Amino acid sequence: MSKPRIAILATGGTIAGVAANPAATDGYRSATLPIDALLAALPGLGDIAEIQAEQVAQLDSKDMSFAVWQRLDTRIRAWRDSGEVDGIVITHGTDSLEETAILLHLTQPAGIPVVLTAAMRPATAVSADGPLNLLHAVRVAAHPGSAALGVLVVVNQEIHAARDVVKLHTGAVQAFASPGCGPLGAVAGQQIRYGRRPVALAGIGGRLLGMPADWPWVEVIVSVAGARRQLVDGLVQQGVQGLVIAGPGNGSIHEALLPALADAWRQGVAVVRGSRSGAGYVTSATGVAAAGEHAAPGGFPATADLNPAKARVALMLALGTGEAGIIGAQGVPDALALQQFFEAI
Ligand code: ASP
Repeated sequence: MSKPRIAILATGGTIAGVAANPAATDGYRSATLPIDALLAALPGLGDIAEIQAEQVAQLDSKDMSFAVWQRLDTRIRAWRDSGEVDGIVITHGTDSLEETAILLHLTQPAGIPVVLTAAMRPATAVSADGPLNLLHAVRVAAHPGSAALGVLVVVNQEIHAARDVVKLHTGAVQAFASPGCGPLGAVAGQQIRYGRRPVALAGIGGRLLGMPADWPWVEVIVSVAGARRQLVDGLVQQGVQGLVIAGPGNGSIHEALLPALADAWRQGVAVVRGSRSGAGYVTSATGVAAAGEHAAPGGFPATADLNPAKARVALMLALGTGEAGIIGAQGVPDALALQQFFEAI
């Protein structure tokens, strides 16, 4: 039987990192080794799949850019449309992996498997996790049961839905989790074991979003003790188009920020409430927001269970692709439409 054909798209990250001292798991250079060098460290890979690899980018994912996202999108589509591969693996840095993951969840069809992987330790480290993660990602991408599940993330022997996965630890190999719902499955030895299917369909309930031609300016603001409205006012004056509030607990917002956010909203800035808590669902108060009382605590649309970094990507896509109804006829955001958008992700 012929082997599955897998394309590997490399973008850099610690999985391609090099340290002067193999005992060091920090202070290394991320995004250094080319994909060919990573593959050379995995001689058994060719027994699992027929591999084609390309270097799409070579960056520390803390520096992820819209241009790299655009290139990645183009290359994923090119490989998928070629019909020449059965799955795609993307190597990525861990820092912004959750952002690229939600981007791909919202924009890529759930057809052949698309699997992101990464590493917490540089390739030169004692007990580097990258080689095994890459091997497992290829196994998952090559597995027939991975098709149509949407974009996946494989790290530390776990398989996560791209929509749900977040980085929760600065240095541990077990840095990733899907808060509230857990992983979809696991890599157990040479086997792939799925325990459940993803709850969310790709895109907005199965309807895919496009990549914006122009990416809108959306910022995340953390609501903290002693917050000042000048932060919001300054951004609005500079032309910000969307704000994700990373509030404490259930997306609550400091009273000093609320009047500034209400002013921003009236000037056409889309404001949504997320949580800085790391897990849990931000409940909506859409009735209040829909009534236009945006200065009321909790009156802005909520990001559901997307963390602020993920919610920002979703809001950029909504604004950048002119998602129907999000900005009303008067140029003012529609709270109900925004709330429905986030609840459909
Ligand atoms: N700074 C690195 C990156 O995101 C961290 C990592 O990959 O673990 O590219």
